[in-house]
Amino acid sequence: MKFRDTYIGKIFNGTRSLLTGLGVTLKEFFTKKVTEQYPENRKTLKISDRHRAMLYMPLDENGNNKCIACGLCQSACPNGTITVKTKTVTDEETGKSKKVLLEYTYDLGCCMFCQLCVNACPKDAIAFNNHFENAVFDRSKLVLKLNK
Ligand code: SF4
Ligand code: SF4
Repeated sequence: MKFRDTYIGKIFNGTRSLLTGLGVTLKEFFTKKVTEQYPENRKTLKISDRHRAMLYMPLDENGNNKCIACGLCQSACPNGTITVKTKTVTDEETGKSKKVLLEYTYDLGCCMFCQLCVNACPKDAIAFNNHFENAVFDRSKLVLKLNK
């Protein structure tokens, strides 16, 4: 009979197992806590800049969005999440007609955050922010007009 199968051997193994478990507990007791006390820590909570929460339109130095209404983001989106409404106007300087943005609609409720739209944009006119508290009671409130 092996020692571990004897009465004393089983007590020895049980005690060793117990001490191993207590050692893990003791180590975690002194380890730095990583639990986030959300939402109490809302003001100090740091969300990674890389987190893709919601599409928005960054403004240029004059406070205008950079969109040229090309529609590439709409075409690149596999979910039909973006709708770009445009109108054609005549450029006063050149006399040529060009498209301008009327309304940029983004449905957060069906976005899968793949970033294909951002990658397709030739003007860096859209980007993701990391504002993560976007829960609403009505899905229609997730349909957002991004251009002001
Ligand atoms: S992140 Fe993907 S799913 Fe969301 S709007 Fe852009 S292309 Fe569409
Ligand atoms: S956001 Fe970019 S890709 Fe989309 S319509 Fe505007 S300029 Fe084109």
